[in-house]
Amino acid sequence: MRIPGPVPAGVDPHPSPLPEGEGASTVATAWAREDMDSLSSRGLRRFLEPLDSPQGPLVRMGGETLVNFASNDYLGLASSPTVRAAASAALESHGVGSGASRLVVGDTSAHQRLEARLASFERSEAALLFNSGFAANVGTIQALVGPEDAVFSDALNHASLIDGCRISRARVVVYPHANVEALDQALSSTPARRRLVVTDSVFSMDGDYAPLRELVSVCRAHDAALLVDEAHGTGVLGSRGAGLCEELGLEHAVDVRMGTLSKALGGLGAYICASRPVVELVLNRARPLVFSTALPAALCAAAEAAVDIVERDDALRARLWRNIRRFSDGLRSLGFAAEPRSAIFPVIVGEPGVAVAASRALRARGLLVKAIRPPTVPEGTSRLRFCLSAAHTEGHVDLALQGLRSLGL
Ligand SMILES: *Cc1c(COP(=O)(O)O)cnc(C)c1O
Repeated sequence: MRIPGPVPAGVDPHPSPLPEGEGASTVATAWAREDMDSLSSRGLRRFLEPLDSPQGPLVRMGGETLVNFASNDYLGLASSPTVRAAASAALESHGVGSGASRLVVGDTSAHQRLEARLASFERSEAALLFNSGFAANVGTIQALVGPEDAVFSDALNHASLIDGCRISRARVVVYPHANVEALDQALSSTPARRRLVVTDSVFSMDGDYAPLRELVSVCRAHDAALLVDEAHGTGVLGSRGAGLCEELGLEHAVDVRMGTLSKALGGLGAYICASRPVVELVLNRARPLVFSTALPAALCAAAEAAVDIVERDDALRARLWRNIRRFSDGLRSLGFAAEPRSAIFPVIVGEPGVAVAASRALRARGLLVKAIRPPTVPEGTSRLRFCLSAAHTEGHVDLALQGLRSLGL
């Protein structure tokens, strides 16, 4: 292996001086030092690195220009002039903050218009905005099920679905990743007042798909509801970019679909699509919605402009898919197992220190590729995670492949 060896345990390459001065020795400070020392010694410490540029295929960071393979801005819409102009106009007309929860006085015509736009984009009876995908998952699960109920969750689901299950106080059954048979058995052997199955559509750390058709049939057979998180499907999959459910023709077979405004749509926030009664119930019960200030109108206007681009013009999606296929072919010719399923490509290396060292070696070649470590992924599956964008050129994709080859993994 030509990567410069794992980062030795206990050696932190990015020491950030924890202040020893006055006011720093609270009780919590001692807790923090103890826990941070433990994270550092296991190679699991995380740190911030600010960008000096907008999101894009090339970013400025720490005085360097890097090709960005770390962003979920799959269509390059985060810095689109059209989207920016829509946000600016709404910033002028509505101001910055929204002042309160939507149920108090934070609702605007921009929120209402965006929800109508999202419902039509998703061919859904109704849509409901949240401030983030995290809030949407937590709020929706907690609104739908409670202590008398059971929720069934794929073992590789996103943290926000996991936390939603926990917060709901329903009984939580975790089924093995994408294993419909195991889910079927779990549903058979778990009686409850209501049963809800929750899954990512495209899994965020592996880029693979949930077996949605089979999940729909199993849920039907057991009278269970299905919630599908399309965070990495929205804008990427489906003939209109509405996600994996659209691609499989399952828009009307799934009880609740969650989509994000923060990934391919380039902004911030999220939404659920469901029947009107479900949307009304969630609006009344979801604590992250009831007790949190509404999204700024400017972000609603930005998202509306982004949805218009995604739905009316498939050129961006076509460019993204050209890049996905090119990268997938390149990975296979380097001997990695890869399939062109989504914009996410994991290269699993095992130990956290190896992943961090590989990420750093790529960085030295001008490539920004993140090392993903536990608890984001299971122990022993630390990885490099490449995210492709429509904004990458073929040259950028080839640089990533050359970088990987140079690692000699
Ligand atoms: C990113 C992500 C979320 C959270 O969305 P945010 O808008 O970033 O809060 C939820 N689910 C999955 C699968 C994700 O990847």
